[in-house]
Amino acid sequence: MHQDTLHIVILGGGTAGWMTANLMAARWKDKNIHLTLVESPDVAVVGVGEGSTPSMQNFFQEIGVAESEWMPECSATYKNGITFEGWSSMPGFEAYCHPFPSQMDTFTFPQFETNCQLRRHHFDVDTHPDRFFLGAYLSQNSKSPKANYAFPFDHPHGYHFDAGLLGKFLRKKAMQRKVKYVQQHVERVIQRENGDIASIEFRDGGTLEGDVFVDCTGFSALLMQKTLKVPYIALDDVLFNDTAVVVSTPVDMKHLPSETRCTALKYGWVWDIPLTSRTGNGYVFSSRYCTLDNAETELRQHLGLLDADVECRSVKWKQGRLQKGWTHNCLAVGLSQGFLEPIEAMSLHLVYCSIGHFITEFEKGKFTTQYQNEYNRLIDSAFDSVTDYIVAHYRLNSRRDTEYWKDNAANPHISNAFRAIVASWMGASQNSLADALKRYDTSHYFPLTSWLILFAGYGVFPAQAQAQPLQAGMQSTDMQALDNFIKRCASNFDTHQATVSAYHS
Ligand SMILES: Cc1cc2nc3c(=O)[nH]c(=O)nc-3n(C[C@H](O)[C@H](O)[C@H](O)COP(=O)(O)OP(=O)(O)OC[C@H]3O[C@@H](n4cnc5c(N)ncnc54)[C@H](O)[C@@H]3O)c2cc1C
Repeated sequence: MHQDTLHIVILGGGTAGWMTANLMAARWKDKNIHLTLVESPDVAVVGVGEGSTPSMQNFFQEIGVAESEWMPECSATYKNGITFEGWSSMPGFEAYCHPFPSQMDTFTFPQFETNCQLRRHHFDVDTHPDRFFLGAYLSQNSKSPKANYAFPFDHPHGYHFDAGLLGKFLRKKAMQRKVKYVQQHVERVIQRENGDIASIEFRDGGTLEGDVFVDCTGFSALLMQKTLKVPYIALDDVLFNDTAVVVSTPVDMKHLPSETRCTALKYGWVWDIPLTSRTGNGYVFSSRYCTLDNAETELRQHLGLLDADVECRSVKWKQGRLQKGWTHNCLAVGLSQGFLEPIEAMSLHLVYCSIGHFITEFEKGKFTTQYQNEYNRLIDSAFDSVTDYIVAHYRLNSRRDTEYWKDNAANPHISNAFRAIVASWMGASQNSLADALKRYDTSHYFPLTSWLILFAGYGVFPAQAQAQPLQAGMQSTDMQALDNFIKRCASNFDTHQATVSAYHS
């Protein structure tokens, strides 16, 4: 450290701000680093973002908080994965589940891959991903992802939670770790001659100085965009959705789902996230194709709420990311850093990775900006990989019922990596799908398994006149034996409702 103590100011008390505070406090507990989090009493948190990937398991482990402690306080439930429904019009492919990777996949993935390769060569074999993954079976049968003690395999899971309650919980935990909390609206930011941020000024008077600032001010990006003028790379020609209309409905605790459902509608898709207190629903759509009123009507129709006396609210955004997520003495985390539509629920995953990478690079550079470029390269690559996987949903589905879906399918704004991935799968290039992912270094966030599940889930294979029966001597997967294997593994998992009730009682 170039000085005795370091003062880090985190500006913003949404999920990103409090995750940053907790992780830095935990990782640097033995260092002379003081953390202050400043939050405006007047600017509300975005209040959405209720589904996670398994990275949230790692986050809670790192900050030393057990599920039995945080889950009941945040109305949280478990998540095996996401089921996509209504995206494909191909018979037999009306829905598929994308489960989280599990150690169990080592047994069933090779069989899935074999069948997919046979199908790519036009042989008539089963390739629906739901038949091959334990996580998909658990999802479909509303089972918990927590195995009983005797089950010897690692089976990671995500969560669903109330974003507002999670923020409060994380605030409590951070304050227990001596993070100072200041409720003040920041009106002005003072810079040094070299452009670094020197201090922030409060509306009520008073100034706070810091050595490092973390911009967690959400879409307003007060430090990064408004002060440091870091350019924003807009992605609205790549990903069309820019609005969500959101409403809660009651949850059926007797049949508590253990997955997020993601159902395609006319101009986008609806999430359906079960908490213990309610079900969160939101229609993510493009305002270029549909008005807010029409979207609300379509959402109400979808949920059977046309005449119900419940209020919907809406959220708007601009998809994209900062050109540099760490610049001068300022790091952006959360919505201030960038936003990609929530179909894969990756934002908090990116928050977790960003803080982790920052801590590593900052320490490596002895608490200087020496490895800033390395950090920015890692984060750009993360955003690009996630963008490609999201784009894949819009390019590979077979819905064509509105201009929205037709324009998405024909959208020419796709990356070279995505072009190479599709070409490899469709047989238009010599490279295998694994080669394409490796060449573009794009498999950290969505590995080969995820891409295979997506292609096979939408029933996308190289075009053929007619599927051929297998020839003598060719081996495909024994589907009955596989069903049996997965069912027997699943008998080690209780119902989701039972597992969650045990915590919440
Ligand atoms: C429709 C939608 C659905 C989403 N779904 C998911 C999902 O399923 N999974 C997922 O991981 N993510 C999801 N996200 C993203 C997720 O909501 C965010 O990543 C997460 O909530 C973090 O937000 P934040 O903390 O960056 O910003 P915010 O929650 O907006 O917090 C901003 C903070 O900055 C403070 N602030 C602002 N200006 C000032 C000022 N001048 N002075 C002082 N303080 C200030 C505010 O008071 C507030 O505390 C979704 C986002 C949207 C829009």
